[in-house]
Amino acid sequence: NGARQQVFVLVGGTGDLAMRMLWPSLAMLDQEGFLSDNLRIISVAREDCGTEVCVDRIGNAVTSRFGEWTTPEALSRFRKRIVHVALDAAHDDWGSKLKAELGDPDTLDIVFFLSVSPSLFKPICEHIEKAGLNKAPNRVIIEKPIGRDLATSKVINDSVAHAFAEDRTFRIDHYLGKETVQNLIALRFGNMVFEPLWNSQSIDHIQITIAETVGVADRLGYYDEYGAIRDMLQNHLLQLLCLLAMEPPSALTSDALRDEKVKVLRSLKAITAENVLTNTARGQYGPGFADGHPVAGYEAEKGSPSNTETFVAIKAEIANWRWAGTPIYMRTGKCLPSRTTEIVIQFKPLPHSIFGPEAQANRLLIRLQPEEDISLTLMNKAPGLTSEGVHLQPLDLSLSLIKAFDDSKDGKPPRRRIAYERLILDALNGNNAQFVRRDEVEAAWTWVDGIIKAWHDKDMKPQKYPAGTFGPVSAFSLIERDNGRMWND
Ligand code: NAD
Repeated sequence: NGARQQVFVLVGGTGDLAMRMLWPSLAMLDQEGFLSDNLRIISVAREDCGTEVCVDRIGNAVTSRFGEWTTPEALSRFRKRIVHVALDAAHDDWGSKLKAELGDPDTLDIVFFLSVSPSLFKPICEHIEKAGLNKAPNRVIIEKPIGRDLATSKVINDSVAHAFAEDRTFRIDHYLGKETVQNLIALRFGNMVFEPLWNSQSIDHIQITIAETVGVADRLGYYDEYGAIRDMLQNHLLQLLCLLAMEPPSALTSDALRDEKVKVLRSLKAITAENVLTNTARGQYGPGFADGHPVAGYEAEKGSPSNTETFVAIKAEIANWRWAGTPIYMRTGKCLPSRTTEIVIQFKPLPHSIFGPEAQANRLLIRLQPEEDISLTLMNKAPGLTSEGVHLQPLDLSLSLIKAFDDSKDGKPPRRRIAYERLILDALNGNNAQFVRRDEVEAAWTWVDGIIKAWHDKDMKPQKYPAGTFGPVSAFSLIERDNGRMWND
């Protein structure tokens, strides 16, 4: 689309997500030379604040995030690209007014980012379509939540699909924009040493944890309708699982990758009323201490009783030739003791140890937070002389990823990229490999809906856990029943 002028239309440009993530991402892409010289950026929102005020707010948002790395020249060039247009999705002239601002659509290559409530996707896509702004090559980026179950996700996807074909619908899961997550594909399919062992013969189990120290704070209204399984597990946790468990794709193309991911989701063994009690744990934080503060508890914050879980742990199994019999322990929650996102690939013990019990099984730790790092624990001879033969000690072989972030110059500390930077750049380039295809969303909901139904059938309410702990006792039992433990609890 080189002949067309690129336009990035950020709908919801004055919102929280836009200010914290999207504008700083765009500004850094610009500073690093990734945006074409003639790219225009249109901020669209209900607020009639005018371009000048809006751009000042954007400038502040960028400097508060990346002040140390921005230069006044780059920021000033970035600000000049932006125009703010006040448009209310409830008004019929939304599309015509935007079109008047944009100019002749046949000369443009437009990327819409809908950073608004999903309830606005339908009216906004209708406005876009009515104004004729939906035609190829134009595309749309949408954010979660894509529904709260399979049925509502279909309604949302249908309303977007009316205006934009599937290959021009970019569903963001920002976990897919993280360096380490992308590196998973490189690690698995760019090396010979892992793939032959990457199966139930050599791997004992997999652990995936996404732990947050914060509570729900001002998102309570939204969160109470969703809970941890819908807010985090249906999307982020399952996306990580897909990349870990998928078969080697035939190529690095978007459909080849996503074909393999969706097969993982479809192979997840159903959790039903018969097995839900032994394979899942639901928790809700009560009073305690988390994130450096006393916490009153979820229900106290809400001011009324609630059956929403703020913690979920699941023992899953992928029923296919590679993975049958390998448990996958996933957990996520709020008000937990540490902010960690990590994946543990726990290898099986040696078939026979000539060193006795000192020989521990190998472990591959893939950490996304607080630092991005990949390390492999190997057994090594404890150095030096002993009078009783050879002793072993575990040694961590670390692929420190800090260099991946080190694009700083002039002695500044390395800048941590926002995952949205890569994803926005991919969307501008029309590359949807790291975006979630509709059938993935639907396969994930199908599995999650089954769990929620089983909870309902068994009347399985969330158990209280003190804020600042790793969930209710039932969560630990999932792995302890298999004689294991979460590796760093
Ligand atoms: P927000 O309420 O802060 O901002 C909403 C934006 O939508 C504002 O710019 C507002 O002007 C615009 N808007 C609202 N009603 C409108 C209307 N009738 N017509 C035109 N514009 C209208 O919301 P947010 O927190 O930025 O979230 C945006 C979306 O991203 C939501 O779907 C949210 O669930 C999702 N999301 C947010 C976060 C986050 O960290 N904030 C994280 C993940 C997903």
